[in-house]
Amino acid sequence: MEFIVSARKYRPVTFRSVVGQAHITVTLKNAIKNQQLAHAYLFCGGRGVGKTTCARIFAKTINCINLTPEYEACNECESCRSFNENRSYNIHELDAASNNSVDDIRLLIDKVRVPPQIGKYSVYIIDEVHMLSTSAFNAFLKTLEEPPKHAIFILATTEKHKILPTILSRCQIFDFNRISVQDAVDHLKYVAQSEGVAVDEEGLTVIAQKADGAMRDALSIFDQIVAFSGKEITYKQVIENLNVLDYDYYFKLVDAFLADNYVDSLVIFDDILKNGFDAYHFVSGLSSHLRDLLVCKNPQSIQLLEVGNAIGSKYHQQSQACSVDFLYDALNVATDAELQYRNAKNKRLFVEFMLIKLARLISEKKKLLS
Ligand SMILES: [Zn+2]
Repeated sequence: MEFIVSARKYRPVTFRSVVGQAHITVTLKNAIKNQQLAHAYLFCGGRGVGKTTCARIFAKTINCINLTPEYEACNECESCRSFNENRSYNIHELDAASNNSVDDIRLLIDKVRVPPQIGKYSVYIIDEVHMLSTSAFNAFLKTLEEPPKHAIFILATTEKHKILPTILSRCQIFDFNRISVQDAVDHLKYVAQSEGVAVDEEGLTVIAQKADGAMRDALSIFDQIVAFSGKEITYKQVIENLNVLDYDYYFKLVDAFLADNYVDSLVIFDDILKNGFDAYHFVSGLSSHLRDLLVCKNPQSIQLLEVGNAIGSKYHQQSQACSVDFLYDALNVATDAELQYRNAKNKRLFVEFMLIKLARLISEKKKLLS
């Protein structure tokens, strides 16, 4: 079985193809268009959201000798080709997570003084810059204060709060978004199509949710599943592969609660345990499900539903059957159970009693009101 490494193969090569960060790519393109380049940028955001990718595209674009009318790199000139083949001398990357000493930064500073032989700019990317030692930081600060004309620094960090104010004040700061589930699903769809992999949207949604905002993780999970299941992937295969609880369980449970049917809810829970799932994760997943139903109740909060289109309509449908009151009470019970779970002696009975309470919510309320 041929193994595709999508994370590398589908790394974007233009600003346009970067997923979910339009607010950043548009600003960078405008800076290039108006020739207003800063000497230092700080890219902040979680892992796998495209910080280094954007830094590389930026470095390539400002050195391209044949920009497109949209101010994108041409990907054809000698400079672009050297970037795409990882042999450009105009880009230098330092991973501060493993090279954080003052000597490492001095080596970099020595390089900074030398103007580039070809192209206009030398771009220095320092990844995980918050990991630099204090002495390394101080050594670097001098260069950052008076950089040579040809030098541009792009500092990247997952932990912005750890960056010293003296550095922050000298950088133009860009905050990268987490990748939304829908954006990740759309991109995965494109990758699947290009690789001739047939997969349903529900399966892709689970992958995107599992990746939790990181496109790179979404692609490597996708690769893992293709390697395991071949070129035809179903939702069932995805959840089995990732050991994810089928969201259908939660839909069925809420149906049981609405029907005052605690017996069904106990049988469903038994089935979940028999399939080897952890009871605590189940309870916490149930809280999330109720929360997702609640945000569906209002057009203004529906954008907080992060599930992708295919499953979104199921949520919408079930939310119509629930009153806000019911969802509020149910969330109360479920989140409370989540908190108390660790203290419970008999975990199974504890969760079962929570389910019975949830199934009786509506009838108990009716009793109170009559
Ligand atoms: Zn070019």
